Amino acid sequence: MLNFNFKNPTSIHFGEGQIQAISTEIPLNARVLLVYGGGSIKSNGVYQQVTDALKEHTWFEFSGIEPNPSYDTLMKAQDIIKAENIDYLLAVGGGSVVDGVKFIAAAALYQGDANNEDGSGESDPWDILAKQQPVTKALPIGAVLTLPATGSESNGNSVVTRDGTKLSFSSNLVRPLFAVLDPTVTLTLSDRQIGNGVVDAFIHIIEQYLTYSVNGKVQDRFSEGLLQTLIEEGPKALAADTKDDLEVRANIMWSATMALNGLIGAGVPQDWSTHIIGHELTGAFGIDHARTLSIVLPALMKVRREQKREKLLQYASRVWQVTEGDDDTRIDQAIRLTEEFFEKMQVPTRLSDIDLGSKDIDLLVERLEQHGMTALGEQGDISLAISREILTQAL
Ligand code: NAP
Ligand code: FE
Repeated sequence: MLNFNFKNPTSIHFGEGQIQAISTEIPLNARVLLVYGGGSIKSNGVYQQVTDALKEHTWFEFSGIEPNPSYDTLMKAQDIIKAENIDYLLAVGGGSVVDGVKFIAAAALYQGDANNEDGSGESDPWDILAKQQPVTKALPIGAVLTLPATGSESNGNSVVTRDGTKLSFSSNLVRPLFAVLDPTVTLTLSDRQIGNGVVDAFIHIIEQYLTYSVNGKVQDRFSEGLLQTLIEEGPKALAADTKDDLEVRANIMWSATMALNGLIGAGVPQDWSTHIIGHELTGAFGIDHARTLSIVLPALMKVRREQKREKLLQYASRVWQVTEGDDDTRIDQAIRLTEEFFEKMQVPTRLSDIDLGSKDIDLLVERLEQHGMTALGEQGDISLAISREILTQAL
């Protein structure tokens, strides 16, 4: 196991009726900005529950955060933050709203880079993403999660898009102080969002598990348990007779949080190349985040089978109970079962499924190069040529 530091202070309120907890989590003297997306929370009653819980607070609202939140939209929130002296942000929505609020929180107090190009000390919050300028202060954040997928509700990561470029930053200062996880609010998700969410969470686990082995037995078994839970419960959330089963939704919701709250990734190498290549597919072609991952991962498993051999065999036997045949047969079988699981979750597994072909690969590789993504993976040895091979394998 590698050395690690683990601290996850997000206070979780899990279960039906827990939205009420925001009334005591947010200090009564706070000036709160309630931030949400395109309005799903208005039609499913979440907005009503949140505003009921805030009835003793002074609060304002900012809406319109889109999926894959855009820098331009997020910067618009700065006006109301300044005008109303906002000092607490409440994100209500999926990963896009929570990620967006993290950027808003950091941008509001960003002081800039005294050493920037013109030496003016001007502050452009885009530098937090583009230049990875450190976040030194941020407004406090609480979250009411409505879509289990990203783990954003209890991690410090945020992904923001500007002009088709998707960049991320990470800071403990933007990790939500508390998160409400009420599985009942996920009952209004479309099949597409359910499938996307389960697959995103599944691949977060894989990115922290399917690497070279460092004998992190605890992390491995946590990961394998979470993967098996998603494999069992995911399809039930799409099946007519189990769709509304709250136990199914609860298990999916908690798995997605545990997948990316820092626990299973502590002390183990991490890959993240599926995500990085996937971000270019979203940036260039607007493909849903999870649907880029379900296309890239099987191809990556095939191209990286030598580097990941030991873990692929462990994955085959412990996650899929594949024990028959020689090593290569078992690895092939595990990859096939992974693809079949994605198909059950109704997400694409090939570039051709989303009408992209070999002519599009040049653009994706060009963009990886532009963004400096030339040495990916847990060993930093996925060059542009290997990314091209992965994308070609995904055709
Ligand atoms: P999302 O983009 O937040 O939401 C997708 C759609 O689902 C929205 O149109 C939203 O509508 C709708 N929705 C949300 N909750 C709903 C509900 N309960 N009922 C009905 N509709 C609902 O999806 P996401 O997958 O959670 O987030 C994706 C983003 O997170 C991407 O930008 C991705 O790159 C990023 N990400 C972040 C991390 C991280 O660690 N921070 C990890 C992976 C991915 P409304 O807008 O109307 O609410
Ligand atoms: Fe993701």
